[in-house]
Amino acid sequence: MRAWEVAAPGPIAGGPLRFAERATPEPGPGQVRVRVRVCGVCRTDLHVAEGDLPVHRPGVVPGHEVVGVVDAVGPGSSRFSPGDRVGVAWLASTCGRCRFCRRGDENLCPDATFTGWDVDGGYAQATVVDEAYAYRLPEGLDDEQAAPLLCAGIIGYRALRRAELPPGGRLGIYGFGGSAHLTAQVALRQGAEVHVLTRSADARRLATELGAASVGPGHGAPPVPLDAAIVFAPAGDIVPGALAALDRGGILVIAGIHLSDVPPLRYEDHLFYERQVRSVTANTRRDGEEFLALATRLGVVATTTAYPFERADEALADLAADRLTGAAVLTVEAP
Ligand SMILES: [Zn+2]
Ligand SMILES: [Zn+2]
Repeated sequence: MRAWEVAAPGPIAGGPLRFAERATPEPGPGQVRVRVRVCGVCRTDLHVAEGDLPVHRPGVVPGHEVVGVVDAVGPGSSRFSPGDRVGVAWLASTCGRCRFCRRGDENLCPDATFTGWDVDGGYAQATVVDEAYAYRLPEGLDDEQAAPLLCAGIIGYRALRRAELPPGGRLGIYGFGGSAHLTAQVALRQGAEVHVLTRSADARRLATELGAASVGPGHGAPPVPLDAAIVFAPAGDIVPGALAALDRGGILVIAGIHLSDVPPLRYEDHLFYERQVRSVTANTRRDGEEFLALATRLGVVATTTAYPFERADEALADLAADRLTGAAVLTVEAP
């Protein structure tokens, strides 16, 4: 099969990915093999390719927003049958025994593995997944729409939950890419007032179209104090301003897996009055199931840009350079 692998992690301009011929993987016990139709492009793929995240598996195949069809079933697997459409997301496995797993916080499992980082992902014609970590996808959601929901959507949903926005509250969103534009739709449809700050003019237009109450530049300030805010941009220098924009008791959530350093904070200006900063680490399978159902019910629509499979490197370069609005997806198998 054809697959993209991270041959030499480094700046995307230097071509860290290689389009290679590989053996088609065989599903092991409890696994299924998925023939990939579409794979979303997530900023985490860029972090893996560029070496912002340490190498966990040399030559890994990135991609953790995988939509495809089961085409082989490993020994002892019974949840899916060949022909079933499934989604493969970021969380690839957890131990199931540690204190975090036992209390329902499997996203914090120290032995968790992740698709497209610890195990090969979906920038490939086929991938394997433990059946317990695959998602059945709602009918009526086409492949290209479903892909960005699997990480951008699910992580954004977890970030929104951790923001504990009060009903009708004011939510700030910093950075407006794949995850943010899905999260904004959920918040808006649940009655939030959404304020978007992003350096991309195209993203500001999209935010306005989706119903944002205000839009402004990336390092700008919203026109009103915020009850909660989510930082999607991987830029730590946004954090002090975002904290200063919070009302008393407000919560700032950092949604990304990687953030550049946060500048020094001043207690009175940034943290006092019971403001809080929270991070988001991966997601539980329950988050995923809940979000896929919610997104379908609320009619969340992903703005997507499709790239042919053989141009994955170009999609990542466009993501790195902020040339994308919404979410990029790779068309691995023509519909
Ligand atoms: Zn565990
Ligand atoms: Zn992701």
